This record gives sequence, structure tokens and C-alpha cells, in this order.
Amino acid sequence: MELQERLNDVRLRIAAGERQADRLAGSVQLVAVSKTFEAEAIRPAIDAGQRVFGENRVQESQGKWPALKAERSDIVLHLIGPLQSNKAADAVALFDVIETVDREKIARALAEEMKRQAKTTRLYVQVNTGLEPQKAGIAPDDTPAFVTFCGEELGLSIEGLMCIPPAEENPGPHFALLAKLAFKCGVEKLSMGMSGDYETAIAFGATSVRVGSAIFGAR
Ligand SMILES: *Cc1c(COP(=O)(O)O)cnc(C)c1O
Repeated sequence: MELQERLNDVRLRIAAGERQADRLAGSVQLVAVSKTFEAEAIRPAIDAGQRVFGENRVQESQGKWPALKAERSDIVLHLIGPLQSNKAADAVALFDVIETVDREKIARALAEEMKRQAKTTRLYVQVNTGLEPQKAGIAPDDTPAFVTFCGEELGLSIEGLMCIPPAEENPGPHFALLAKLAFKCGVEKLSMGMSGDYETAIAFGATSVRVGSAIFGAR
């Protein structure tokens, strides 16, 4: 199958998921995860009308996205991988959305950089719903206080929450937990669901799904 067919298939499945969950058509945004793929492999997705992309590494993204963004001014780039504070300046400069805010230090660094660059980057807090020691993200119980801290102490507006459920587990309960936390935190956006489980995530209220291999092929 060609990339455009795979992309179309994902779009159709998202639309079907919206209908099945009695959600408004177009209420779930597709973030096409292009990590590890070169600009030449990404361009066909842009040509097919895809505008929102996700990458997990700042440095890799700096190698391909400035040129792609220069070709199309309406590209929206999401950082979905862990961020170190020494990369905060580069991340704020390149990304439109950072989904992986998960600790005070990085939140402070982002607040400082946004002020310095006079740029507003949209922000999500990453939640470690499975409390996995090797995984980034803030603990579920600490999330409401952290979102409040970001707003009240740093003046950062947190738009949503993001999670990556443990690979071996049924993702449903993790998606449900993230939705419950978002309600508690008073944030509207839910970034959850990847190639293997985005339809489930839509049923649990995802407002965006991060789909890589189902569009670009195996990495
Ligand atoms: C790679 C990645 C994805 C996409 O994964 P696929 O299984 O290829 O769809 C989604 N979210 C994050 C955080 C990722 O790192």
C-alpha cells in the first residue's frame, strides 16, 4: 500500500470511531508521527493534505522540519518525546505544541524561553498513567497540582494531557484515567492513542491521536 492509501485508511477509521462514539465529525485530530523518516518520506503526507505532525527528538527534527515548514506555513509540529531543559530553547523555536511537560524544571525552562523568544508554544502535560519507572511523565496523583502550579506560578496555560499506556496492558483503563484527570484539571485536550489503539482512545475521548507506523510504515 502507498502512504496516501494508508493515510486515507487511518482518516476513515478515525471518522468511523467518531461516529461510533457519538462524537462530532472532525473532533479528533490526527497527529502523523514521522519520527525516523526523512523529509522525502514525509512530503507525500503533506501533499495528501496532512498538516499536523509529531516528532520525538528535538535534534532529529531540526534536521528536517525547518525546510519542510518553510515550504508550507500551515504545518503544525508536535514534540511527543522527552525534553531536556538544555533543549528547551530549540524546542520552543521549532515546535508549535510540546506534549511532554512533566516536571517543574522543564516547565520553568519553557516559561523562560517562551518569554525570551516572545513565542507561545501550546503545552500538554505528560502523565505516566502506568507509573512505569522507565517512562517519562508525572504521576497521576500529582497531575492536578502540577497543572495548577504551571498556571499560577509560571503563567503557563496547559491545554491538555498526554499518555502512553504500558505496552503490555489493556490501554482502555489508562485512557479512562487520563480523561478523568483532564476533567479534574480543567483541561480540554486529550492526546492518547497510537497505531495499535487509536480507535480505543477515540472511544475514551481522545481529542488527538498520534499515529506513526500505520501511516509511514514500520520503523
Ligand atoms: C512513536 C510514537 C507514537 C507513534 O507510534 P506508532 O505505534 O508508530 O503509531 C506515538 N506516540 C509517541 C509518544 C511515540 O513516541
